[in-house]
Amino acid sequence: MPLLSSLVDALFGTRCVLCNDLGATCCNQCWSDLPLKTRRVVRYGPDGSSLQGVAAIDFEPRVGTLVHAFKELGRSVLAERFAAAMAVSMLEFGSHIEAPQSVRCFLVPVPSRISSIQARGFSPAASVATALLKRLEPRWGRRTIELPLRLASTRRWVWRAHESADQAGLDQSDRKQNLICTMAASKSAAQKRVILVDDIVTTGASLFETARALEAVGAEIEGFVTFAETILRKIEKTPTR
Ligand SMILES: [Zn+2]
Repeated sequence: MPLLSSLVDALFGTRCVLCNDLGATCCNQCWSDLPLKTRRVVRYGPDGSSLQGVAAIDFEPRVGTLVHAFKELGRSVLAERFAAAMAVSMLEFGSHIEAPQSVRCFLVPVPSRISSIQARGFSPAASVATALLKRLEPRWGRRTIELPLRLASTRRWVWRAHESADQAGLDQSDRKQNLICTMAASKSAAQKRVILVDDIVTTGASLFETARALEAVGAEIEGFVTFAETILRKIEKTPTR
């Protein structure tokens, strides 16, 4: 699919996925029309524990179109747009982290389902994490955002050890049950401080399972950052996670 969309773009020019104008995958006008606003997000796990993080926007139809184009239609350049918004959100997120500047934090993408990675040929959350680090990490160029924590790099320390059913179409409790113990993590994550990265948070089931796998090998979860947050009452309308 990414190859096909690249071919179509090469032949007919890139069109905005929101307004269909020629020029960019998401034109500046459509992007600036989006109600981007950093918000703190809290999700509660099956055992009553909580995970805190930030998101850059509420899930709404335009966000759904962008995320679908990114994940399913090969519009990989949208990772840069998402990361730009998430980088701003990270400012606030960082201010709530107690880790001293000398302690490095690692961005860890939430792994996709095995069948999704095979079908898409890439991991959306890993692409977003890479783009986010590029935005924030000084070694990639001049730093434009002063982040109150020290990011080391992205690490794919977690993977799906077992396939699970697609989260779409499941209710909140089924989503949580569906993912329990489906992930495994590398021992390299032991003693590391981790910030989880994903495109959307809905129930938080994927984030909790990723956190569980990482904590099982001794990692410390500082929180998470996502592009969009789905308010739980809208869950039946959301595509994934
Ligand atoms: Zn547009």
